[in-house]
Amino acid sequence: MTSYVIPPAPQASLPVDGQSERFPVRRVFCVGRNYADHAREMGNDPDREPPFFFAKPADAVVPAEGTVPYPPLTADLHHEIELVVAIGTGGVSIDPASALDHVWGYAAGVDLTRRDLQAVAKKMSRPWENAKGFDASGPTTPLVPASRIGHPASGRIWISVNGDVRQQGDLAEQIWAVPDIIAHLSQSVRLEPGDIIFTGTPAGVAALQPGDRVEGGIDGIASFRFTIGDKAA
Ligand code: MN
Repeated sequence: MTSYVIPPAPQASLPVDGQSERFPVRRVFCVGRNYADHAREMGNDPDREPPFFFAKPADAVVPAEGTVPYPPLTADLHHEIELVVAIGTGGVSIDPASALDHVWGYAAGVDLTRRDLQAVAKKMSRPWENAKGFDASGPTTPLVPASRIGHPASGRIWISVNGDVRQQGDLAEQIWAVPDIIAHLSQSVRLEPGDIIFTGTPAGVAALQPGDRVEGGIDGIASFRFTIGDKAA
């Protein structure tokens, strides 16, 4: 048996709706710009250029419930509501026609973003990790197995803050649908069981404040509610 010089980190995981076994999270990939209206609001051309990806640490994924901390080093924490795809079967250079066979399930997640740090990173041509990969930056609902709900290609995706709807769109509006995302990403890396993918956000991203009540979801998949905690002292 392998022994370690310090205790190994606990396995990052997500709960599964309706059963006690959890889904072990291996890597967290995120798609930039996948809804035309959000690409436009960020000042980009919504033409169908190839999707691009960034990553969060596996343990950035936390339950979308209770209190989610307001992170340090930002004065502009943004919400991005997203469809989350969980990979159950790995592969490389996956054919879009069979890509959905690799999906274990789906969830609704929030790609929390320190927008002010992202703006600096873009301007300075620096990596996005500091803007995207901070602790608790990926609140996510329990996963729902595709064996139960199939592979939703449409459905309302929304998020509200203190009762006001901020982002609202439909999965059908994605520039790159889930099979295309899996096909592209698996050309770059070998996808493995446990990988999850945040698939981009519709327009309406905006700032969160400590104490904000955040609710959201995707029709037919999951919904959530959490509160933003106090700023770090
Ligand atoms: Mn995002």
